[in-house]
Amino acid sequence: MNLQKSIAIISESQDITERLDQVYEQVPSGDCKGCLRCCTESVNTFFVEYVHILSFLQSNPQVLQEHAYKISRFFLLEMVEEMYCPFVREDRLCAIYDARPLPCRVFGHLTEKDYQHNYERVLAGNEALAAYYKEEHGLVLPRAIIERKIPYCRDFVSEQKITIDDRDDWVDLLFSLDSKFLMNECIGFEDVNQSLITWFMKSVMSIEEAGNYRVQAMQYHQSGDHDALEKLINAIEKKLFKLNEI
Ligand code: SF4
Ligand code: SF4
Repeated sequence: MNLQKSIAIISESQDITERLDQVYEQVPSGDCKGCLRCCTESVNTFFVEYVHILSFLQSNPQVLQEHAYKISRFFLLEMVEEMYCPFVREDRLCAIYDARPLPCRVFGHLTEKDYQHNYERVLAGNEALAAYYKEEHGLVLPRAIIERKIPYCRDFVSEQKITIDDRDDWVDLLFSLDSKFLMNECIGFEDVNQSLITWFMKSVMSIEEAGNYRVQAMQYHQSGDHDALEKLINAIEKKLFKLNEI
């Protein structure tokens, strides 16, 4: 992944940022109660959105300083502990609100049927991960985490509900923006649409290294070795600080 080149592309191409804003502006506005129930996962994020978030963090370097520890901890332990998204601030607001990715913008808008469809997709992914960790590493993930279902939001009052078709149209537009980075070899096809926190990890280490760290962290968590776990979290936190220097 070539982050320097990606940030240069997004800074120099007004067209990309305008088209990204146009997608976000199509999401109808609404009244969120701020209960944070939906801020408990690492949402799927297109690369263009991730680079947009990195640009935001470069303009607000204290945000990464304050949240790098939680990003590291979330990545390492999200399959064994329920946690808030690492960008939830002490005052319960989103630290990257202006740059938050599409899934954060549409959560309260989805119909119950589309929400259920989404959950089934997430559940299938979690079951596959659980089977992998058990077979390859002997780690048994808690059923409560594998089957975790964020309650359908009935509190968000929106001008209009959106459908999966609306969402698919926006996803297509974001994919077309990602193609600019693909063509410039900033990312490969295998990178498209990762979870937000995985993008951060892939920015500072190889995916194999990140996977090994995660297994190690879950083993320390399982055996109760808190000191070793803390050292691991801090080691990745330090790597993340370097993103402010790109
Ligand atoms: S969108 Fe719904 S679940 Fe999420 S914070 Fe707002 S009210 Fe709560
Ligand atoms: S990025 Fe912000 S809005 Fe999205 S889940 Fe995290 S805290 Fe919530």
